[in-house]
Amino acid sequence: MKYDYLVVGSGLFGSIFAHEAKKAGKSVLVIDKRPNIAGNVYTEDVEGIHVHKYGAHIFHTNNQEVWEYIQQFATFNRFTNSPVANYKGELYSLPFNMYTFNKMWGVVTPEEAQAKIEEQKKAANITEPKNLEEQAISLVGKDIYEKLIKGYTEKQWGRECKDLPSFIIKRLPVRLTFDNNYFNALYQGIPMGGYTKMVANMLDGIEVRLNEDYLAKKDEYDSLAEKIIYTGPIDAYFNYSLGNLEYRSVRFETELLDKPNYQGNAAVNYTDRETPYTRIIEHKWFEFGKDDHGNDIPKTVISKEYSSEWKPGDEPYYPVNDEKNGALYAKYKELADKETNVVFGGRLGEYKYYDMDAVIASALDCVKREIH
Ligand code: FAD
Ligand code: UDP
Repeated sequence: MKYDYLVVGSGLFGSIFAHEAKKAGKSVLVIDKRPNIAGNVYTEDVEGIHVHKYGAHIFHTNNQEVWEYIQQFATFNRFTNSPVANYKGELYSLPFNMYTFNKMWGVVTPEEAQAKIEEQKKAANITEPKNLEEQAISLVGKDIYEKLIKGYTEKQWGRECKDLPSFIIKRLPVRLTFDNNYFNALYQGIPMGGYTKMVANMLDGIEVRLNEDYLAKKDEYDSLAEKIIYTGPIDAYFNYSLGNLEYRSVRFETELLDKPNYQGNAAVNYTDRETPYTRIIEHKWFEFGKDDHGNDIPKTVISKEYSSEWKPGDEPYYPVNDEKNGALYAKYKELADKETNVVFGGRLGEYKYYDMDAVIASALDCVKREIH
């Protein structure tokens, strides 16, 4: 055997595992079927702007150990996610906070905002919210539900709010303060120089082969290493023998524009039902902050995001956390547990919606279990 470890996938899970294995004196080969490293956090340089090719990624965490760990690979800027909602040309601050309530109702104090929400809740007469629509109205009232939640949610999930579970909306903070930070996280930022550079730093000195599909040459690759760390889709590993796991997909339409500033913010959500995309990302504002420096680059790159139903062959983005898929994953997991020299890790290998910080923590746990 030529290598101690073959790591399939150069996303965050694979790259952190490879980094730690090399540090422990193990020999490692990393392969990826894409033409680039970094998996879904890959950023591509366009006119000096780091474009988040597989969707906008904002690093946020409450895990101090992970935050300290990741600093060795990148310096993070002080980006704070504060999206703007555009409802038919009216602009509102997100997540729901005093700026939003002031714009919606003209209220000035937290007491006035609270009273307005209570009044709308009472009028809707909901005691136990049974679905997303009822949950949203009882959290923020009918006006905000209709202008900022209903259309966006229905586009994003392709279903009526009445047919969606209420927990989805509980993730969004509702604040009676002038704080428009989208995340309740102690630490937040974007790696300066882009995510690709951060992952390249993890893989420094490690052999990486791109455009290599492990499953197409499985026997050949298996013969190269003692142990495999597999971060591709678990159902693909077993040749979909028990059926396909489902995903939610997103389609991006990216354009390079001949102007320095398109929308003045990294993310603008289009919350009406008629606009076909859910949001527009303007990539330069992740890195340059909201000062004039970003205007030094005369061009800008924007991506419109369209939410779409996933079909086999599409890029798998978000695992679907419902009962049917959970049960199918459990069956694949039983098969996976029988593979003695393969570890299944990461978002696709474990069919789990991991944020970046959680996938880093999970890779470090895997290192502790595997490498002695
Ligand atoms: P991946 O990055 O998917 O890496 C897996 C790699 O395996 C890929 O490069 C793939 O090409 C390779 N591979 C698969 N099969 C094979 C094969 N057969 N042979 C060779 N290689 C193979 N997290 C946050 O914390 N903040 C955010 O703002 C955020 N935004 C997101 C937005 C979107 C649209 C998505 C989809 C995710 C977002 N995430 C965010 C989550 C984040 O992307 C993941 O936590 C992280 O990328 C998971 O890393 P991973 O290594 O598990 O998987
Ligand atoms: N949401 C909304 N309007 C917005 C942003 C979010 O109604 O402008 C709702 C939507 O239902 C979404 C949920 O809040 O699914 C959670 O938002 P988040 O940004 O966490 O969604 P993610 O893209 O991470 O799934």
